[in-house]
Amino acid sequence: MGASMREMREQALVYLVEWEGRDPQRYNVDGIIRDAWINGNGSDAVWKESVERHHIRFLVGDWVRITVEAEDGFTEHHYGPIENFRKPGGSFYKRHVAKPYAAFVHPEYTRSHVVPLADLVEEINDFEIITEWSEVHKGGPQHNYGVYQCIGIHGPYPPPATTLVIHKVSGRKKRFCDACNTPQQRAGLADEALMYQRNAKSTILELRADPTLITGPTADPGRLWDKTPADECRSWADVFPWLVPAPAAELYKQWKEAQRASVAA
Ligand SMILES: [Zn+2]
Repeated sequence: MGASMREMREQALVYLVEWEGRDPQRYNVDGIIRDAWINGNGSDAVWKESVERHHIRFLVGDWVRITVEAEDGFTEHHYGPIENFRKPGGSFYKRHVAKPYAAFVHPEYTRSHVVPLADLVEEINDFEIITEWSEVHKGGPQHNYGVYQCIGIHGPYPPPATTLVIHKVSGRKKRFCDACNTPQQRAGLADEALMYQRNAKSTILELRADPTLITGPTADPGRLWDKTPADECRSWADVFPWLVPAPAAELYKQWKEAQRASVAA
């Protein structure tokens, strides 16, 4: 190949950015050129392989999620930006490395951690982002012509929401404008779910110890205001279904089916 390195870089960037729509910051372009064109035969398959191999999954500043083991067998999801990269022992790299081992993150709700890259999750993976206007504003408030406003950081006149962000684990939703649909705001949604989990700890522990608490007796039909502990438990489970331990959730499902059947009979 007679092309100079500069020419090859330009050509590689055309392929990566213009043809394939990739972010060039996230690729080791020289590595791709070396593997695909200098050492490789330049075929499509070899190009694809090289691009894959030289993808940079994480950069400093990227928001990530770590899974932290808390007491009593709880796991918690914590979010924060990558502050720097570390060696296996936790020490700093003295120069830039293509494949760092671990990242240092300092999430808001936990102590700081050095976490192997293999254990990090891109924060965006934890959210579903919906942008179709009709979906974002489905059931919107009548007093505002059916349009939801952004609940991000604005003064008294927030703009219309353009995205519906769903926290996959909890199903909790928030609507943002494009400017507010940031990792920080999304992490805030997940942090709220974490706070609900922490606040419900005793209920979750009780249900783990005895899942049948959720199928206990209902209030006397003449005294429905006088809720039983099982009624309270079921009301809670209806609001926070993602926090119900699996065996209790299964029993509750069966209980609801039995209730429906007895009403139908
Ligand atoms: Zn906004």
